[in-house]
Amino acid sequence: MAELNLFDDELNRRLATLTEQGLRRELRRVDSPQGPRIETGGKTHRNFSSNDYLGIANHPALKEAAIRALEKFGAGAGASRLICGSLAPFHELEETLAGFKKTEAALTFATGYAAALGTITALAGKDDILILDKLVHASIVDAAKLSGAKLRVFDHNDPGDLEKILIWAQAKIAQQEPAAGQVIIVTEAIFSMDGDAAPLRELVTLKNKYGAWLMVDEAHATGLYGADGRGLANELGVGNQIEIQMGTLGKALGASGGYICGSRGLIDFLTNRARSFIFSTAPVPAAAAAATAGIQLAQSPEGEARRKILRQRVKKLRSELRMATGEIDGAIIPIIIGDEAKAVAAAATLRAESIFIPAIRYPTVARGQARLRVTLTAAHSEDDVAELVRALTDLKTT
Ligand SMILES: *Cc1c(COP(=O)(O)O)cnc(C)c1O
Repeated sequence: MAELNLFDDELNRRLATLTEQGLRRELRRVDSPQGPRIETGGKTHRNFSSNDYLGIANHPALKEAAIRALEKFGAGAGASRLICGSLAPFHELEETLAGFKKTEAALTFATGYAAALGTITALAGKDDILILDKLVHASIVDAAKLSGAKLRVFDHNDPGDLEKILIWAQAKIAQQEPAAGQVIIVTEAIFSMDGDAAPLRELVTLKNKYGAWLMVDEAHATGLYGADGRGLANELGVGNQIEIQMGTLGKALGASGGYICGSRGLIDFLTNRARSFIFSTAPVPAAAAAATAGIQLAQSPEGEARRKILRQRVKKLRSELRMATGEIDGAIIPIIIGDEAKAVAAAATLRAESIFIPAIRYPTVARGQARLRVTLTAAHSEDDVAELVRALTDLKTT
């Protein structure tokens, strides 16, 4: 038992260091469904932290679809998709996704994280070069490291810096024996912690010029931009020029899971090579059915109406906070505080006023870049936005 005590002592020391640095994290139990109000700690809070941007995670259409699938296909899938777990709801979901994204095919994973991990490690190896935007999500960074490919990072949303690296990469591959190797650029559509949009048209021009492949993670754009919510690539007219379109079914689409959309060749290749897909039990069929309903809802007049309300709320909040507005305004609004402990204190102050916005800290963002990450959804009322503005203004003046 002495060894076990030593083990816990060591972990407690490590946790104490996190606490000192303002980096200790805790789970907060929520006793209600997702929505603009959540119950936590025995109190109802206005919730400005969910990625359920269209406010549909608790929508009757998604719940009914999940219940129907649960009754027809049971609770669990029983095996990986390639063994005997490829239940009909996954196929229906992938057909719906491909139709939604206007690609030849789609493949779904248990999570977006698993989609990134499986896809990047399948496509890139030691002879290849991955070039990532500096602010891409941890799932992409982890996948890139695991792939064994050479890694380079370009300055956030800076095509000029990317071009310099592409020139270097071309020369590097030409020197290899044999001169084989692929360059793959990976970025996000709307950045998860900053809410700004990638210059996808410029990135497409560059990847074409240098013969690179482009992978775009639309986790915070799918369901929100473009015709019928198809995403930012669609909005910017480059949806058919991106080799690898990734996203999650767990944010605006209200359900759970990750996806890759692209050519039939890409999807068949991933089915054979993406280890997070092959060596993992298929998700619960109810999740796939809910996601299909989420996509259908996003494409419906109700989805359009929800996007319109969300745009109004975002516009209002940005103007009240005197933030710049542009062509694409994300529903993610970072209130940068900087110091980790101050960000935690600010979140606690807001929580005391029944406003729920957790502090986002390292390693989710860089050290000294701690922030309150506000997200708005179509389910927020005008009154919610007014109350948020009041609380954030109080916070600044105290
Ligand atoms: C949330 C997120 C993911 C992971 O998706 P999950 O379905 O939550 O695993 C990937 N990329 C980005 C940019 C994200 O924000």
